Amino acid sequence: MELWYTERGIVPGLGLSVQVTKVLHEEQTEFQHLAIVDTKIFGRMLWLDNIIMTSIKDEFVYHEMISHVALNTHPNPKKVLVIGGGDGGVIREVIKHPSVEKAILVEIDRRVVETSKQYLPEIACGLDDPRVEVLFEDGIKYAQEHKNEFDIIITDSTDPIGPAVGLFEGSFYKSCYEALKEDGIFVAQTESPYHDAELIPKIQKNIRSLYPITKVYLAHIPTYPGGCWTFTMGSKKYDPEAVDLSNKPTFDTRYYNHEIHKAAFVLPNFVRELINK
Ligand code: SAM
Repeated sequence: MELWYTERGIVPGLGLSVQVTKVLHEEQTEFQHLAIVDTKIFGRMLWLDNIIMTSIKDEFVYHEMISHVALNTHPNPKKVLVIGGGDGGVIREVIKHPSVEKAILVEIDRRVVETSKQYLPEIACGLDDPRVEVLFEDGIKYAQEHKNEFDIIITDSTDPIGPAVGLFEGSFYKSCYEALKEDGIFVAQTESPYHDAELIPKIQKNIRSLYPITKVYLAHIPTYPGGCWTFTMGSKKYDPEAVDLSNKPTFDTRYYNHEIHKAAFVLPNFVRELINK
């Protein structure tokens, strides 16, 4: 008998179906329903509240693009804060940068980190690096309590539901701005340009009201609704499109390269319209 799962995410009327070959782990944590499953097409997956978070087949796109664009834009990123991201994929990419001395992961749900370490070691492999500190607390509160401290802040959040709602609000963006140093860079996953037409313009207004340089870039991610994803960067000083990448490392990345870094900022007309609404 075949077992199929259809993700009914936050987009009403849209679902992505995957054939599940094995359910490895399922639990209700303090914050959300967590499942680790093996699938026929995407390999092992992490689901939170029945929404696809990451898959072994395409995780590299999201994790490389949310990390390296900002880290290669900053001339010397030493201290990096990652909010959310308990699977460890962003941290794995951040610590590839030799300039990084300290990377702090603030994840609200301890069980996401523990289960990712157990079932997704390819993704979670950086979490035990000596430069990494993992804290289990609310990223909104953490950002409020820190000032002028970080070179880069990356928000690797769930969709704007449950504990992640506040990670898409103006007050959180302001806290992050204040937690950054005077030349710091903020980057966040900002959902689908096809399905989040109301949320994306609001995010742009908020980020633009804070940063002199605000840019949106895209990557294609097969397991996220619509397959095309936006990331929004707010930068106090450095322009990601103008940066000279010739001396920057490329690492063993599978999606990110210097040409993609620049090309990702070339937006289709409907996305330009959306972010300028
Ligand atoms: N890349 C994924 C996506 O867009 O589908 C999201 C990755 S998932 C690991 C995001 C993480 O954010 C979850 O583990 C969740 O527990 C965490 N999270 C949600 N709200 C949070 C908050 N307020 N503070 C810290 N972490 C939070």
